[in-house]
Amino acid sequence: MRREKDVGTMNILIKNGTILTMSEKGIIRQGAVVIEDDKIVDIGKTEDLERKYGRGYEKIDASGKVVMPGLINTHQHAAMSLLRGYADDLPLQEWLENRIWPIEKCMTPHHIYVGALLTAVESIIGGTTTVNTMYHYTRGENEAKAFSDVGLRGIIGHVCFSWRKREDKLLLEELAGKWHNKRDGLIRVSVDPHSPYTVDPEYFIELKEIGRDLNRKYGSQEAPIIWHIHVAETFDEVEKIQAAFKVRLKDGIFEYLDSLKFLDEYVIAAHCVAITEKDIEIIRKRDVKVSHNPVSNLKLASGISPVPKLVSKDVTVSLGTDSSCSNNTADMFEVMKIAALLHKGVNRNPTVLSAGQILKMATIKGAKALMWDEEIGSIEPNKKADVIILNFRKPHLFPLYSEESHLVYAAKSSDVETVLINGKIVMENGKLTTVDVDKVLEMVEKAKEDLIERVKSNLK
Ligand SMILES: [Zn+2]
Repeated sequence: MRREKDVGTMNILIKNGTILTMSEKGIIRQGAVVIEDDKIVDIGKTEDLERKYGRGYEKIDASGKVVMPGLINTHQHAAMSLLRGYADDLPLQEWLENRIWPIEKCMTPHHIYVGALLTAVESIIGGTTTVNTMYHYTRGENEAKAFSDVGLRGIIGHVCFSWRKREDKLLLEELAGKWHNKRDGLIRVSVDPHSPYTVDPEYFIELKEIGRDLNRKYGSQEAPIIWHIHVAETFDEVEKIQAAFKVRLKDGIFEYLDSLKFLDEYVIAAHCVAITEKDIEIIRKRDVKVSHNPVSNLKLASGISPVPKLVSKDVTVSLGTDSSCSNNTADMFEVMKIAALLHKGVNRNPTVLSAGQILKMATIKGAKALMWDEEIGSIEPNKKADVIILNFRKPHLFPLYSEESHLVYAAKSSDVETVLINGKIVMENGKLTTVDVDKVLEMVEKAKEDLIERVKSNLK
């Protein structure tokens, strides 16, 4: 890709591309995007905008390329990429309790940082510009530092469990104070009850209040602190909740969470696989956001979320990869394709979830799900410049009838060439500008060996 440098400016003109705006403007051919500092200031036809913004702009020639908003991954556990391929082919509970949780106990803040660094790098290379991650927040090195070092936008959560309430509260306060809306607005934070079977009813009520309190101190209408939780991932979850907390669930988990006054538009619920009609009604009524993770749900054989039904009720459904332990990549192109195919297959209906709908779920709906759609999710003036450029001059993308069709059914994450986040070029022609990928891989290898040693000595 040719780039005419104009040293000393932070302004960029992407020209001659096919712009998939994901807004009412639709697709602009021979289009241009004008970026000043961290914002998109104008979009339109190249000939018009080149005349208007000729000098003082660094130019990116996007001939033969598609320019679109960066993808938004609404459910991740970024640090866990360090455990990619460590344990597979097991039922969720056995996988978690016997394999994942024991090795996670040996993870230090450095391991968490390195794992998140790997996910951040992998995400950007594959065209994802925002990641919503739930993990243990640690002092010093952590996921927030990793995202910020790589230049990835994200919401960093601290996952909360009933067995460590005191520690959770201290860490949530520190996370929000240090990181919410920091690094030029790149990083936001969330309060993350792990799930309804690991968080007791009283703690749910408390975590809602803690989140409100943190919002009063550090949040705002424009940049709220949200709540991120796993709900109804498997079909035995109701029984697990009843056994753990001696409660009686009448008509689904969402009814139970609603009775605790936990649900509102600031809650994003990952999975929503084992849900009832009543659950769907409550999700809709409370405007709870859903993160659909088809690859993870298939790999763990958890079941299939009734996404077409949720979409038909106007629920905001977004897409997530889940961690690289249960996916096992951070590839949102793969998630888009599998989401589109899965629901057609199980419903025996090829009209279900069109390519256009899937693209929305990975962009503007993802932004809505994270309460961030005022700033990201589409290419529109005044939004933050989170933009990806894909090379469409590839055999598997020829001939071209519909960009939307190709992006969901034919494109691969490796077709992403250039990535901008917050107006900064973080990847150019396939090369990251913020970190040395080889160095990150070396760090990962070292961290993995160290972690395995720690697990061995822990078992002795
Ligand atoms: Zn998860």
